[in-house]
Amino acid sequence: MNTHPLLPRWLGGLLILAVLVPAPTEAQSWLHDDGSKSNRSIFRLLDEWPTPNSYRTGAGSPGPDYWQQQVDYVIETSLDTASHVVSGSERITYHNNSPEALQFLWVQLDQNVRSIRHSRSYQTQGALPEEISPQFRRFVGLTQFDGGHNITRVQLAGHEGALVDAEYRINNTIMKIDLPHPLPAGEVLELEIDWNFLVPDNGRGAKERLEDGWIYEMAQWFPRMSVFDDVNGWQTDQFLGRGEFYLNFGNYDVKITVPWNHIVDATGELQNPEEVLTPTQMSRLEEAYRSEEPRFIIPAEEVMDPSTRPVGSGMVTWHYKAENVRDFAWVSSKLFVWDAAGFRYSPEHDVIKVHSLYPREAMPLWDKASTRAILQTLKTYGRMAFEYPYPKAINVNGPQGGMEYPMVAFCGGRPQPDGTFSDRAERGLIGVTVHEVGHNWFPMIVDSDERKWTWMDEGLNSFLQFYGQWDYAKTYCGAEWSQNPECEFVGNMGPAPAIVGYMQDPDQVPIMTESDLIHKDFGNNGYSKPAAGLLMLREHILEEGPFDEAFSGYAQKWMFKQPKPADFFRSMEDGAGEHLAWFWRGWFYTTHANDQALENVTTQAAMDLVGNTSQGQYYHRIRIRNEGGLVMPVELEVTYEDGSSERIDLPVDVWRYNEILFTKGFFSQKAITKVILDPDEAFADIDRSDNVWTAAGSGS
Ligand SMILES: [Zn+2]
Repeated sequence: MNTHPLLPRWLGGLLILAVLVPAPTEAQSWLHDDGSKSNRSIFRLLDEWPTPNSYRTGAGSPGPDYWQQQVDYVIETSLDTASHVVSGSERITYHNNSPEALQFLWVQLDQNVRSIRHSRSYQTQGALPEEISPQFRRFVGLTQFDGGHNITRVQLAGHEGALVDAEYRINNTIMKIDLPHPLPAGEVLELEIDWNFLVPDNGRGAKERLEDGWIYEMAQWFPRMSVFDDVNGWQTDQFLGRGEFYLNFGNYDVKITVPWNHIVDATGELQNPEEVLTPTQMSRLEEAYRSEEPRFIIPAEEVMDPSTRPVGSGMVTWHYKAENVRDFAWVSSKLFVWDAAGFRYSPEHDVIKVHSLYPREAMPLWDKASTRAILQTLKTYGRMAFEYPYPKAINVNGPQGGMEYPMVAFCGGRPQPDGTFSDRAERGLIGVTVHEVGHNWFPMIVDSDERKWTWMDEGLNSFLQFYGQWDYAKTYCGAEWSQNPECEFVGNMGPAPAIVGYMQDPDQVPIMTESDLIHKDFGNNGYSKPAAGLLMLREHILEEGPFDEAFSGYAQKWMFKQPKPADFFRSMEDGAGEHLAWFWRGWFYTTHANDQALENVTTQAAMDLVGNTSQGQYYHRIRIRNEGGLVMPVELEVTYEDGSSERIDLPVDVWRYNEILFTKGFFSQKAITKVILDPDEAFADIDRSDNVWTAAGSGS
């Protein structure tokens, strides 16, 4: 994940304002004044948002006519471990809940991003740079792996269930299926597709060779229906490898056939444990689900022991069912150690089955931290968004460094070959586990369009990840880590100082840039900056109560639905009771930075000004110049001659009529010796060299 060096802390009081600043005009002045006399206030309403309608309301809610498609899958798949080919056959039930008749269907063939012929990513790849660091070499496609979805059958169910061959056309990573008759609104269509593909060596779904065998992580492995919605019509953006997925909810019935000695886990609940597990394993699972303390279902010493399998040869079929999920992932390997625990939000709540699967090479790190990190995610995200509605949450160690699917997380990170690991590696695993399991909330359940808007899942998820990590450190770590664990986590995504470096970069693009148009620094753009903005909103602009009501309100009303950016912005304003156009415009729609400066502090005798000293001997004026393009609240720490200090926190509204200059005036009995602007470093001020004023002659 992305890390940011903290800016060196300002050593207050060294730079005294000694330069005479020309007297600025006090006239109203809008930063973006282009001389047109039109309303250019940063506080003005956003006209980028679509007009509310009966599908999506002005409150940012699903409207009375909101609809979305439902797609159910029955899939049979098998893994050939000799050729590394996955084959599958699926029956798709497509529910047209839209008000329109559909002339054709679009299907996503994501594996085609790994096909030299079909991948626009291959076709548009630029030359390699002159230097590639060793840790990035494995991400460079030197071998020109040629995979892709090989489609062998596409048939539509006609009258009385008879299957007829469909007309279809593959356009790189998507496939159009023509319908002989339009599918009317409210009707259901069934179709069948057969396919196979060669499992890649890297990427989101991949295989990995360890000393004793392979680990397979299967993702984007079956042809999935594209989304047809009220905003895009058909979402037909090509999969280029970065902008992720936008998917339909539905029910899955999946049979996975693998060699007898493999252990499988997947999205959904296992339907045939007695056929694929031993009685010992079933009773260990039952025991494990009773407590949050992880227990081994397969301990390290039993890995690859034939007695851990109910049969001793051939192939075995694992059967899973999942309800109301937007995708399905599975893993298979003979190398898995398996530990499990159970979690309940309350005694009446159904148990949530928590699994971690990893090779022995991942011990003793994974057995220590993985299941605990899943449990912490269920708690923290449950508190801040909504309680986890699925029956199961699993984390798997394999080739993928960090990727998310419904109920399933893939996380990388292992100890050194000698079994030792650093605090940093442990924090890395905890952080990535919280993040990937956290994606169950965004986008697996709050189903945003990742292909277009990375921040809607990565940004919101990184924001909650900050609290998940913090809670984990409080719950489990304490003095166990050699350094203060809370501080170590603070350097991650979320806190404002961590985003200052990015905000100083003149070569940014706004957060509101489509995922495949973000030309550089994807992590800061899609993850860290939105997370920092939300943290700022929660901790310093709205306060926790109003923010939490609005944020969880958004999450809950869009559970199992498909929100768009304006739905989030509108929900937050509606729930918190604040117009935040200035914040969304500045932080999400522009690349302006916050740069406030203490321009001057002057003091006048109160007697001279108002003819009495009833409110104090002095009248002080603190003049603040706004030098960045953003407006932010003004927070001041004022120190007096007797050493006492006080906070003056002003709302962003100080910039409402003049976005460039504001002078705070107040009486006091004491003379001021020092003022610090933004003392908590809460607003990502990109130049703190002008944030401290010290009275001439006073020490710092
Ligand atoms: Zn993520």
